[in-house]
Amino acid sequence: MTTGAKRDYYEVLGVSRTASQDEIKKAYRRLARQYHPDVNKEDSAESKFKELNEAYEVLSDEQKRAVYDRFGHNTPGGMGGGGAYGDSFGGADPFSTIFDAFFGGAAAGPRTQRGPQRGADLRYNLRLSFEEAVFGVDKEIEYRRLEGCPSCRGSGAEPGTDPVRCPKCSGSGEVRQRAPLFNMVTVTTCDGCGGTGYVIPIPCRECRGEGRVRQARRITVKVPAGVDGNQQIRINGEGEAGPRGGPFGNLYVALDVQPHALFLREGNDLIFELKLNVAQAALGEELDVPTIDGSEKLRLPPATQTGQTFRLRGKGVPFLRQQGRGDQIVVTRVVVPQKLNEQQRRLFQELARTFDPEDQGGDHDEGFFGRIRDALGL
Ligand SMILES: [Zn+2]
Ligand SMILES: [Zn+2]
Repeated sequence: MTTGAKRDYYEVLGVSRTASQDEIKKAYRRLARQYHPDVNKEDSAESKFKELNEAYEVLSDEQKRAVYDRFGHNTPGGMGGGGAYGDSFGGADPFSTIFDAFFGGAAAGPRTQRGPQRGADLRYNLRLSFEEAVFGVDKEIEYRRLEGCPSCRGSGAEPGTDPVRCPKCSGSGEVRQRAPLFNMVTVTTCDGCGGTGYVIPIPCRECRGEGRVRQARRITVKVPAGVDGNQQIRINGEGEAGPRGGPFGNLYVALDVQPHALFLREGNDLIFELKLNVAQAALGEELDVPTIDGSEKLRLPPATQTGQTFRLRGKGVPFLRQQGRGDQIVVTRVVVPQKLNEQQRRLFQELARTFDPEDQGGDHDEGFFGRIRDALGL
């Protein structure tokens, strides 16, 4: 018998494609008795017996049969005596490294040349209080993402079955085509396997062969001290799993920092407006000023004006991932009382009589009009 087109295994056994294991076994026994070389002395008996055994070896195994049903004799590396199955189902499994990398927190793991596709990056909006951004915080967050399917361990193959070498590219992941006119070879990614070099004969029921399922994920985000809004923290490997064991994408945590009732942030400095009554402003006073760390003493000199600034060193926002902090800048505002009681009115009137009408009690500052005169060159 010359090697040519191989006979269909079902045809060899004389059973239908939907035959049960029992029917296959019965057919095999019957034919084996018929063609056994000890019994049958015809020339073709030995090759027919071999053919029969090969067919039975495949069809009696549900997994091999499924692969055969799908790919026929084109199955991985041809079907020579079932050896091809040996290659695909056992021994050095080229996919094991992929799965190892996948389950070992893959982001930094080594990637094979034609490795599986990386998963998508995700974005999470994290709201922080003003203080949390200033001092840093560990925040537990929960989100949903695609993860490796626990049923098939991310392979996409139904448990108990394995991916097999892609018949279209023989596992290389690429297809070479020669353009005869230019004697040029074009190499394209194999569309039979998407470049992975393997295909899944029986897709996993849990994930429909995708190798991943959507699941809740809970992680702790370490927000460093000194972050600000419009910044994001990248967390490697906390995005989605790639299809069929592909490595994880990254998670980007976008920060949304709430404003503070007292402080306005300017880079690493905090601005605080300190309201003073006229007596405090005129006489000076030592005051307790709120800071982000608690209250702090501030000595105001006599004759403090509106808009004067005082710096509380090191009371600002920590520098991100560096030593040191910014300052708190106290800006004064003198508030004229809205209402006076009798005693206050009397005292102000008494005070008023002491002022020289020409001198507004100032420090001979040229004042507003003086500055305008200067600006106009008068
Ligand atoms: Zn699965
Ligand atoms: Zn392929």
